[in-house]
Amino acid sequence: MNNSHNPLRLNVGYLYSKPIGTSREIPVACDHLEIDDLLVRDLNSQVRISRTREGLLFQVNTQARLQTTCVRCLKNIYLPVETGFEELYQFPSRSREETDLLLPGDGYLDLTALYREYLILAIPIKRLCKPDCKGLCVVCGADLNEMDCEHSRDQETIPEAAADEE
Ligand SMILES: [Zn+2]
Ligand SMILES: [Zn+2]
Repeated sequence: MNNSHNPLRLNVGYLYSKPIGTSREIPVACDHLEIDDLLVRDLNSQVRISRTREGLLFQVNTQARLQTTCVRCLKNIYLPVETGFEELYQFPSRSREETDLLLPGDGYLDLTALYREYLILAIPIKRLCKPDCKGLCVVCGADLNEMDCEHSRDQETIPEAAADEE
């Protein structure tokens, strides 16, 4: 995997000296990206950067597909997600808190960690390969999307056990 060009590393240094209120829209797109353990496909972002008194404000809207697992059938899937976020990066000399995000001196800002954080937050709890995924048979583990096992065919007879309790 060739990481020599990171699409999430933006050259923003030219905005440092621009007047307050200057803004730029930067499209960021990438077919395939690995952020640590997060596999991303079809990343499509609009990044709006505005020069403020304190630094640069980043307003990001992004769509992507993330590799995850269907919670029913456990298949690997690329789930479409969409997220938006806003962060202010400050000039180091003006920052007050230790937690402030700081603009780098060389003008190249790497947003990878920020994207990772927000993309992971965008993953829904109910992750399905398709809305009506039938999941796996609890008895034999067969993928019920692909086959009917004997247990799924006998489903109507299984409640007999419950009837016995009466
Ligand atoms: Zn599934
Ligand atoms: Zn089965």
